[in-house]
Amino acid sequence: MVHFVGAGPGAVDLITVRGLHYLEEADVIIYAGSLVNPKLLEYAKPSCEIYDSARMSLEQIVRVMEEAEKNRETTVRLHTGDPSIYGAIREQMEELKKRQIEFDICPGVSAMSGAAASLQAEYTLPGVSQSIIISRAQGRTGVPETEALRELAVHQTTMILFLSSGLADKARDELLLGGYDPATPVAVVYKATWPEEKILRTTLERVAEDMEREGIRKTALIIVGNVLGEQYARSKLYDAAFTTEFRRGIEE
Ligand code: SAH
Repeated sequence: MVHFVGAGPGAVDLITVRGLHYLEEADVIIYAGSLVNPKLLEYAKPSCEIYDSARMSLEQIVRVMEEAEKNRETTVRLHTGDPSIYGAIREQMEELKKRQIEFDICPGVSAMSGAAASLQAEYTLPGVSQSIIISRAQGRTGVPETEALRELAVHQTTMILFLSSGLADKARDELLLGGYDPATPVAVVYKATWPEEKILRTTLERVAEDMEREGIRKTALIIVGNVLGEQYARSKLYDAAFTTEFRRGIEE
């Protein structure tokens, strides 16, 4: 059995209770060494075999899982954040299916949730933005043309860019071309929830230079949108005059 487990954004205690149990029981752990907090490995059994996937190809990863399965052992494949976001789990699952190896997925706290908590931000504010676009600047991994940042920018939503810290100037150009105001608030969160976390609050037109100055080149999210600004409308949900399924509104 293989458990794909979301390790959370960094802080050790942001893994789920279920994920932690799986870690404690695992005979084999393959963890994404570049981003997963190595302190999580302290929960492994002394006999547990541990592999860092940063140095492995897909074939090597699958071979380790296959070997464990032959020995009736349990493998944890530990991914950063939540495995569903830029986790490259689909290809692993397909290989396991081919080999009839059973697996399941334990969700995790994504870096974007960790960053929101650090920023004390709400990504969806009435009257400002009710949608979040999760995307990335085009680097060595291609992005479909219909999803060019310039196209997505048209919607003026909250936008969260993963895997783009080294491409901030390119992302800025695209977002400006797409129609965001140069003064749109931007927050960059480096290593959200880690002890070395850094928060940079800036604007779209200044983001690339400010990141350069702060030396932020990787492991950061670039969050763009007016939800980071001052203006918003209060929610209907807690409006005294608004009737919901659970509460009758009071007319004043
Ligand atoms: N599955 C992960 C994302 C993996 S892609 C998740 O749900 O969070 C790797 C990218 O995620 C990094 O390039 C960076 O943009 C972002 N990232 C991962 N951990 C982060 C953290 N603690 N703080 C800020 N960004 C992080």
